[in-house]
Amino acid sequence: MTIGTLYLVGVPIGNLGDMTPRALEILRAVDLVAAEDTRTTAGLLARYGLKVKLESYHKHNTRQKGDKLRDLLLEGRSVALVADAGTPGISDPGSDLVGVCADAGIPVVVVPGACAAIAGLTGSGLCTDRFVFEGFLSAAGKTRRMALEQVASERRTVVLYEAPHRLRRTLSDLAQAGLGGRRIVAARELTKLHEEFLRSTVDGLVSRYTEDEPRGEYVLVLEGLEAYEERVRPEDDGEKAERVERAARERSAALVRDGLPVRDIARMVSQETGLPRKEAYAMAAALRGDRPKDDV
Ligand code: SAM
Repeated sequence: MTIGTLYLVGVPIGNLGDMTPRALEILRAVDLVAAEDTRTTAGLLARYGLKVKLESYHKHNTRQKGDKLRDLLLEGRSVALVADAGTPGISDPGSDLVGVCADAGIPVVVVPGACAAIAGLTGSGLCTDRFVFEGFLSAAGKTRRMALEQVASERRTVVLYEAPHRLRRTLSDLAQAGLGGRRIVAARELTKLHEEFLRSTVDGLVSRYTEDEPRGEYVLVLEGLEAYEERVRPEDDGEKAERVERAARERSAALVRDGLPVRDIARMVSQETGLPRKEAYAMAAALRGDRPKDDV
């Protein structure tokens, strides 16, 4: 008997978003849709004229429903898992079921859709090269304090989720953790009518929300320590010289490996990094194992 496939299907995070044609095709074809809230998903499916059997799968029944879904998959049924919004498994149930299925040798296929964290980060204008997703900070106590300490020392951009009724507290806790001067972007109501990116500092948002009532859903994108330090503390001459040296050495080594003549390497490296031509020549010659020359 062929076993079934578990599809992880992304759904919109706001009513301006849409299902992808592939997601619709899969939801139409599967035997069963496991949904965080069957009423919410029934509404979504009705919008697309889909009639599919629904089964609830939420954080309070992951263990027993996970086993049931695994057994159905092993019997050859195909199952799609959807969350109320966005990507299943991202601050939503899903990862447990994927683990159970992976352990049982059941194929898992992802059908990506929206994810609030990625949408918020994308529009934030903060560094997206390297980031961490922290999700919801724990509500209280030692774990919250530890999480805040970790966020404060994190070098990469940090992405958080927050509910409107807890936004003020989270902003003031971030300020208390010494992050008042960090840039932060509150991305609210993404792909909804009142979508908005509030670009400020932590202190700036604290004072804004002293006046305004937080409304809607929020992704908070916080500047990491590295970007903050670069912004508030311009590099001194020694640091600049070190950075230029490092960049020139890496580039020279690559060009030496490519077999370019030392004179050409010196010209290129000097132009690209700002290292004086004579020093670039000596560096390239040394990397190639030549004896240093005076004439460049
Ligand atoms: N699985 C979802 C995803 O892929 O983004 C996240 C679900 S989590 C339970 C809900 C949180 O996601 C909200 O409290 C909010 O922080 C964030 N969120 C969801 N939809 C959003 C939207 N349209 N705009 C801003 N944040 C949103």
